Amino acid sequence: MTQSHAMIINGERVEAAGTFGVIDPARAEFFADCPAASPEHLDAAVAAARKAFPTWRDTVIEERARLLNEIANAVEADKDALAVLLSTEQGKPRASAHGEIGAAIHWMRETAKLRPPVEVIRDDEKNRIEVHRKPLGVVGSITPWNHPVLIATWHVMPALMAGNCVVIKPSSYTPLSTLRLVELANVHLPRGVLNSVTGEGGIGRAITGHPGIDKIVFTGSTPTGRNIMSNAADTLKRLTLELGGNDAAIVLPDADIDAIAPVIFAKSFGNSGQTCAALKRLYVHESLHDALAEKIAVLARAAKVGPASDPASQFGPLQNKAQFDLVRALADDARANGGRFLAGGEASDEAGYFFPLTVVTEVTDGMRIVDEEQFGPILPIVRYSDVDDAIARANASENGLGGSIWSTDIKKAEALARRLECGTAWVNDHSSISPAAPFGGAKQSGIGVEFGHWGLEEYMQMQTVHITR
Ligand code: NDP
Repeated sequence: MTQSHAMIINGERVEAAGTFGVIDPARAEFFADCPAASPEHLDAAVAAARKAFPTWRDTVIEERARLLNEIANAVEADKDALAVLLSTEQGKPRASAHGEIGAAIHWMRETAKLRPPVEVIRDDEKNRIEVHRKPLGVVGSITPWNHPVLIATWHVMPALMAGNCVVIKPSSYTPLSTLRLVELANVHLPRGVLNSVTGEGGIGRAITGHPGIDKIVFTGSTPTGRNIMSNAADTLKRLTLELGGNDAAIVLPDADIDAIAPVIFAKSFGNSGQTCAALKRLYVHESLHDALAEKIAVLARAAKVGPASDPASQFGPLQNKAQFDLVRALADDARANGGRFLAGGEASDEAGYFFPLTVVTEVTDGMRIVDEEQFGPILPIVRYSDVDDAIARANASENGLGGSIWSTDIKKAEALARRLECGTAWVNDHSSISPAAPFGGAKQSGIGVEFGHWGLEEYMQMQTVHITR
C-alpha cells in the first residue's frame, strides 16, 4: 500500500516530519507509515477547533444534520477503499470491515436525526423555567483498535451534531482508516470543525491535559480510563469513558440449545472476541452444559480463521502482539489449571497474530480465563447448578458492561436479567446495540453513555433559564 496518510488540521492535510510504522496483523509486518504528531501539531489542531467553534455552534442544527448525511454519503462512496485500509490495519476479514463501515454509515444517519430537547419545568403567570442544552466547545476523542471506524463515528458524530468541534486521536495500532474518515468528512465540514492527530504514546495523554479541550470521550481499557480521569482533573474536563467488560451470560435449564448455540457462538467470537461487550464468560446449567459446549465447539472447529485478503476468512488474527500474548497466556493458564479444550487452544506457528477459535470447559471463577477480560477468541464455559449462585458469580466482577440470560421462559429471564449489575442486559441475545438506546458501563466499565438523546446530551452543558414575568 503506497498511499500517503496525513492528519487533517484546520482543513489541511498535514504530514509530520516524524512517522511511525503500522503493522498488518495478518503478517506481523509493517505495511505503512503514519505521521507522528508533535505537541505543536496538537496545539494547532486545538486552536483550529477553538476558532471554528463559535460559527459551528451557531450553525442551525438542520444544517449540521445535513452535513452529517453528506459525510455518510461520502463514506458510502468510498467504502471499498476504506474497507481495504480498515481490514489491512485491523486484521478483520474484508466482509467484516464492510459490516463495520455499513454500521458507521447507519449510525451517522441516525445521529443526524437527534435534536436536543428544550424542557419546560414550570410555566405559570409568574414564572417560566426552561432547561436548554448547549455545546461544550472542543471535544478530544481517543479511540481504540478493535472497531476503529465505528467507534470514531460514535464519538465524532454526536459531538458535531451537538455543535462541538473535535480533535480525534485514533489508536496507534489502527490510525489509517480514521485518518481517511476524517479526510472524507472534511470535504463537507467547515475548516477546523474536525481535526485528526496521530502518534504513539504521549499524544493521547497530551490531549487529556490540554487546556483548550473541554471534554474527553474515550473507548479503551479500564487502566487507561483511570489514567485519563486523573490527567483530566486539573482542567475539570467532562468525560465519557467506555471501558472494558467481562460480560457473563447465564443459560437456564429450559433453554433451547439448538436455537441458542449459533447465537452464543456469534456473540462470543465476532471480531475474534475483540469487542468490549462480547460474551466473555458463559455459565451453563449442569443439565445442558456438555451438550451446549459441544455444539459451540463444533462451530468453533469449523470456522475459517485467516487473513483479510482471503475471501474465505470468517475470522481474522488478533489485532496486535500484546493482545495475542495475553490470549495465549490465558489459554496456558487454563490448561495448567485443568481446563479442557474442546476447540483450539494453541496458536499455530504461522506468521501473524492468529489464534484459533477456542472453547474451554472445566474452568471456574478464580481462574484467570474466567476472571480477566480476554478480549480475544477464547470462550470459557462454566458449569453451575443454582441460578442464584450463577447471578452472584456474574455480578462478582468489577466490570459491569453487559450481561445476558438465555431461556425459553421470557418472563423469568427478564426478571433475572434485571438482577445483573451491568449497563445493558439482554434476554436470548448479547452485545446487540441500537443508535436509539443508551449504551454504557456500570461499575469499572465506564462513566456516561453513548447513543440516542442520552448520548447526545453527554456532549452538551445544561443551562437552566429562569424567567420572571
Ligand atoms: P488502551 O486503552 O491503552 O488504548 C486505547 C487508546 O488510548 C489508544 O488510542 C491509546 O493510544 C490511548 N492511550 C493510551 N494511554 C493513554 C493515556 N495515558 N492517555 C490518553 N490516551 C491513552 O488499550 P490497549 O491498546 O492497551 O488495549 C489493552 C486492553 O484494553 C485490551 O486488552 C482490552 O482489554 C481493552 N480494550 C478495550 C476496548 C473497548 O472497546 N472497550 C478497545 C480496545 C482495548 P496509543 O495507541 O497511542 O497508545
